[in-house]
Amino acid sequence: MSDQAHTGGCQCGAVRFRVTKLGRGSICFCRMCQKATAGLGGLLITAEEFAWTRGAPKYFVSSDVARRGFCGDCGTPLTFESGGAVDLSIVAFDRPADVPPTIQLAAEARIPWGDHLNALPPRPESPAMAERYARVVSYQHPDHDTDAWEARTRAATEPHQ
Ligand SMILES: [Zn+2]
Repeated sequence: MSDQAHTGGCQCGAVRFRVTKLGRGSICFCRMCQKATAGLGGLLITAEEFAWTRGAPKYFVSSDVARRGFCGDCGTPLTFESGGAVDLSIVAFDRPADVPPTIQLAAEARIPWGDHLNALPPRPESPAMAERYARVVSYQHPDHDTDAWEARTRAATEPHQ
């Protein structure tokens, strides 16, 4: 993997990171990674040199050998940490396409229908839906560093519209 700098962070923007040296990228299908990401598996890449550039994660100690970092404000999964090594969530990178996984871990735990998602029929988009999407105001942090950013965490305590 290249030594080019990569940036990323959580959905609300309270936690941001910058990586200057990456190791191996992987997808781990173990049940813990499924739960921790609420996804099919944990897409993770070893961060050999990195720093938190805004905020810091909270942690869930998921076993006697590992902890998992996440944004305490918006819940975005950010790290898997074990034995002194830190893996960052590939999907939390600003440009996840630049940091591909190269190996499967715990492949025996894959959820079977996960292998067929790309074959599912895409939902046809309608002009009405396109118009609705165009009116949505996103509170998600953009996919690049910002000099100043006010995370909109108050929404967590207000009714969902
Ligand atoms: Zn956040």
